[in-house]
Amino acid sequence: MRLLLVEDDRMIGESISEALTGENHIVDWVRDGREAELAMDDPVYDLILLDLGLPKKNGLAVLEDYRKRGGLLPILVLTARDSLTDRVTGLDVGADDYLVKPFELEELFARMRALLRRPAGRAQNPIVHGDLTLDPVRHEVRRQDVLLPVSAREFALLQILLSPPGRIWSLAQLEEKLYGWDRDIGSNAVEVYIHHLRKKLGSHFIRNVRGVGYKVSEA
Ligand code: CA
Repeated sequence: MRLLLVEDDRMIGESISEALTGENHIVDWVRDGREAELAMDDPVYDLILLDLGLPKKNGLAVLEDYRKRGGLLPILVLTARDSLTDRVTGLDVGADDYLVKPFELEELFARMRALLRRPAGRAQNPIVHGDLTLDPVRHEVRRQDVLLPVSAREFALLQILLSPPGRIWSLAQLEEKLYGWDRDIGSNAVEVYIHHLRKKLGSHFIRNVRGVGYKVSEA
């Protein structure tokens, strides 16, 4: 999954960002309310983790304005302000859930999973395409019920290509979805993963649309 982390505290931000990266998520980390607003309007995210005490614009105002603009992404608020008033206000203006700092990372992962299972969140149901099934919760790819070994990046790439199947993705879009902003990748990394996936799924599974990008074949 690709996540937006909004947190101005360097130590907390680093520990969350490292933990989520370790769970195979792609994390973009912004540190103030204004940057957060710009990033939140980018449609690439599955979930937003939002601190409330932020420089430039406070998190509650960011949240309220985001919902007013029609933003639909699930938002988990991470806050040191554990007073009841703040919690109620946050939920009123559009937070989906709350976590009060300090919290255990396991608790964060559990809340994230719960949010993503909700219908309001991005679908976490298995994607079925022909005889292939990709299960985002179990992180498994199966073909005719046989488990296919894929790496985390290959899984993420396949998930993007199947959401929805048939959509054409340019190389640049795939790179952005896979790596976020802080990428230090070789220029052909995505093509290498596509090559690996074709080896595992058959060379025709991912089609090259000349001059445009890539798509999965009709089921
Ligand atoms: Ca803060």
